[in-house]
Amino acid sequence: MSERLGLNGTILTYQDVADVLTAKTGVRVTRATVWRIVNGKGEPENKSQRRALGLPVTAPAVVCPTHGVVHPGRCPRLARKPKSLFDLPTAALAWMIRNRREYAPD
Ligand SMILES: [Zn+2]
Repeated sequence: MSERLGLNGTILTYQDVADVLTAKTGVRVTRATVWRIVNGKGEPENKSQRRALGLPVTAPAVVCPTHGVVHPGRCPRLARKPKSLFDLPTAALAWMIRNRREYAPD
């Protein structure tokens, strides 16, 4: 970690790493944050802290082929498409039963 962050000199503790990073970047980094990263327990979400720690701030995302935008989660159109007869909304299912329609997903 010290090579990646460009830290020089003797560093003995997580607090030393946090102090050096705070002094070097001007962004307060705590020893708890350093400990979590070193032990694989999570990374900070704060952009300035990520930048201070040498973590990526942005990541490539897949564009939805239907809408042409990046959805924060799954595409809402895909989520609405029922996979089985029993995934249909109650009103739609009742309409199909009343009108004797067969379920034919595309
Ligand atoms: Zn979409």
